[in-house]
Amino acid sequence: MSRESVVYDVAIIGSGPGGYVAAIKASQLGLKVALIEKYSKVGGTCLHWGCIPTKALLLNADLYEKALHGKEFGILYKDINLDFRLVKARKDKIVKKLAMGTDFLMKKNKVAIYQGIGSISAPDTIQVSGEAPAEVKAKKIVIATGSEAKLLPGMELDGQCILTNKEILDLDSVPKSLLVVGAGAVGIEFASIFSRFGTDVTVVEMLPRILPLEDNEVSEELRKILTRRRIKIMTNARLENLTVQDGKVQATLSVEGAPAQVISAEKALIGVGRRPVSEGLGLEQLGVATTRGFIPVDEHMETSVPGIFAIGDVVPTQQLAHLASHEGILAVRHIAGEKTEPLNYDLVPSCTYCSPEVSSVGLTENAARERGFEVVTSKFPFAAIGKATILGENDGFVKLVCEKKYKQVLGIHMIGPHVTELIAEGTAIIGLEACAEDVSHLIHAHPTVSEGIMEAAHAIYGAAIHF
Ligand code: FAD
Repeated sequence: MSRESVVYDVAIIGSGPGGYVAAIKASQLGLKVALIEKYSKVGGTCLHWGCIPTKALLLNADLYEKALHGKEFGILYKDINLDFRLVKARKDKIVKKLAMGTDFLMKKNKVAIYQGIGSISAPDTIQVSGEAPAEVKAKKIVIATGSEAKLLPGMELDGQCILTNKEILDLDSVPKSLLVVGAGAVGIEFASIFSRFGTDVTVVEMLPRILPLEDNEVSEELRKILTRRRIKIMTNARLENLTVQDGKVQATLSVEGAPAQVISAEKALIGVGRRPVSEGLGLEQLGVATTRGFIPVDEHMETSVPGIFAIGDVVPTQQLAHLASHEGILAVRHIAGEKTEPLNYDLVPSCTYCSPEVSSVGLTENAARERGFEVVTSKFPFAAIGKATILGENDGFVKLVCEKKYKQVLGIHMIGPHVTELIAEGTAIIGLEACAEDVSHLIHAHPTVSEGIMEAAHAIYGAAIHF
């Protein structure tokens, strides 16, 4: 049968961690699946311009920093040099390898790939334009078109000096100075990468604190640590103007309570958030409701038009790869007729892979109070954890947020070594509705940084062992 005459059970537009994971799951559930992707490779932002390449660079930054401090570990080198071409080549190799793996998974699961731009002309029809135009017929459609870097009004990318997360990954050399506009996870991760490669980094944030979605105390601790590590951080600072003069970026900033100032840098990274990619999909004609470009959905990820679903960064939930995948799985399980439970958005772990790392799950202290809980908290410092001392990474802490009566854990917030791995335990603790006492009785291996979680649970009762 030719591809033109197939009616797919489900057609998915966009092959990021939302779309491609949904495609695999749909195939596993016995559905006939089409996946439409406008880029030449599957994998989306996460694989090509997000999670994967940034974490590859962060590893280089960690190793380089460790090498520079080799003496502390008794390891002496004559010369330590960063060859940025090799750093970049390794990052590209990792992306390529994982892209090949994703391609393999598409073939293994018999997902029909259409390369081109998809737009929905009817609730069962997608027009694919590009080099190989096609009409794809499907019983259900999943929109997984993701997001792209948001720009501020009047701001123009020149691809040379003013960059987003895409262009900065293509730099051939380490810039002398970098202005990072926006102190969310993307901005902070790039600040952490380039400052450790030797770039003079300034981070500008309009809100009063960096990583504004994290718990206040975590933001404050990170600010102190990054400042100590010579990253200049300006909060309550509004970018008024950004121009390029003589090959340099000139930024005019108004900082609360101070006269406007001009900052000059070799490059600027715009990290002021991500906007949903929903234009040109034909949503208006179909009557699919949108809010500021985001596509609201119900508990099955179905949009206002029956049979059309949306998942991932294009829906108004946290913009995270693992959440996009879970939303995708939920949507296709529902399409396949399985009974599904709504996702619990309080249980989505969030990580920033800077140095030190930051991770959290559940409610911040403020959010818990706003929801009406009487709250108790504890904090246990990594300075008192043996393994953190061995690692030479004593900065940071584990913070627990519990409701007062039973000390049920509502939130876990961490800053310190390997906390992006530890957060899996946090998700289990909150997901299983454990109380601090339960956590304090769990035997944690010694010496590990995970002992910080157990100690923070003891600390809720004022009885931490090692502090
Ligand atoms: P995307 O990954 O954006 O994929 C959408 C796909 O749809 C793209 O391939 C696009 O080409 C395609 N597309 C769009 N429109 C059309 C169309 N009309 N027709 C055909 N194809 C179309 N999240 C984490 O969880 N952990 C991290 O460490 C992390 N790091 C990040 C670092 C950076 C620098 C950035 C920018 C983001 C990071 N994220 C991270 C966020 C994560 O990348 C996104 O949440 C995730 O990629 C969203 O997945 P998605 O499938 O919804 O969309």
